[in-house]
Order: sequence, then C-alpha cells, then structure tokens
Amino acid sequence: MNIGVYPGSFDPVTNGHIDIICRASKLCDKLIVAVGSNEAKKPAFTVQERIEFLRCALSERQDMGNNIEIENFSNLLIDFVKKKKAKIIIKGLRAVSDFEYEFQMALLNKQLDSGIETLFMMTNVIYAYLSSSAVKEIARNGGKIDGLVPDCIKDPIMKKLKP
Ligand code: ADP
Repeated sequence: MNIGVYPGSFDPVTNGHIDIICRASKLCDKLIVAVGSNEAKKPAFTVQERIEFLRCALSERQDMGNNIEIENFSNLLIDFVKKKKAKIIIKGLRAVSDFEYEFQMALLNKQLDSGIETLFMMTNVIYAYLSSSAVKEIARNGGKIDGLVPDCIKDPIMKKLKP
C-alpha cells in the first residue's frame, strides 16, 4: 500500500492546505495528515482544536476521498513516517521563500532515512498568497477570513482570535 504523510502545523488549516490534501489523496492509497505538536512554535490553537478543524473541513467537502486520516505527531517526523509504514512525505510549495527551508528538511530527512521520498506539490495559484499566519493576523485584527479557510471553522477561529 502506498501511504503518504502530509505534515504541518495547520494552525489553523487553510483552503491552501485543503487543496493540497485533496490533490495528494488522489496520488496515495492512504494519506495521513500529520498535525505537529511543536509547542516551540507557540501555536494559537491546541492540537485538539487543529485536528477538529481539519475533521470539520474535510467532512464539508464532497470531492474528498475516504482514504484520508488525521493524526497527531510530536518529535521527529521521520520516526512518525516510519511507524506508519509510509514511504512518501508530501509538502506544498508556495513561493521561492518556502523552497530553502523545505530543501533543507527534505535533504535532512533523506539523510535520516534514504528509503523515504519527499514529494513537492505546487500550490494552486489561487492560494499562493495564503498562510496560516496571515489568517491569524487578519482574524486578530478583526478582518474577514471568508474564502481563506473552510466555512465551518470561520466562527471558531474568529471567536478565539478576534479581540
Ligand atoms: P503555514 O506555512 O501556512 O504555517 P504549515 O506549517 O501548516 O503552514 O504547512 C504545512 C504544509 O502545507 C507545508 O508543506 C506548506 O508549505 C504547505 N502549505 C501551506 N500553505 C499552503 C498553500 N497556500 N498552498 C500550498 N501549500 C501550502
């Protein structure tokens, strides 16, 4: 079975992430969306909230396959990938600025386990400008996040972040 892992903070999930999940799920038998705990990043939402947002967002979509699982991971991504018997790490690329960091991570992960490949998927051009941090910034300043995140998570995001 061809298992892929799509890791990230998803703090919170955006329509850009959902687009990658939808496209990547068609390339794998099973896609695991791996929500990183990484408290050092000081996430705005708890892991449970981020997972709940993903669940809600995926259930809202009719075009999503039923081969997607959502899990939490902490510590090394490569250990999680191995534990899940996955062979592919999926990453999204928005701009050249993403490239340097992702290039380093892909090479480091290759060094840690040469049997696991990182596959990069180009952002859908309509989401190229979109990031979780931009969503949080807009919400914290009372702006509208319509069209940036799935409809069902708009209210809980605003409730938590709007001053
Ligand atoms: P962010 O960079 O938005 O804080 P994450 O750490 O949660 O997001 O990102 C998880 C993965 O999703 C990364 O591979 C990142 O490059 C990708 N990604 C994030 N936003 C987009 C987008 N708008 N289009 C495509 N890929 C994206």
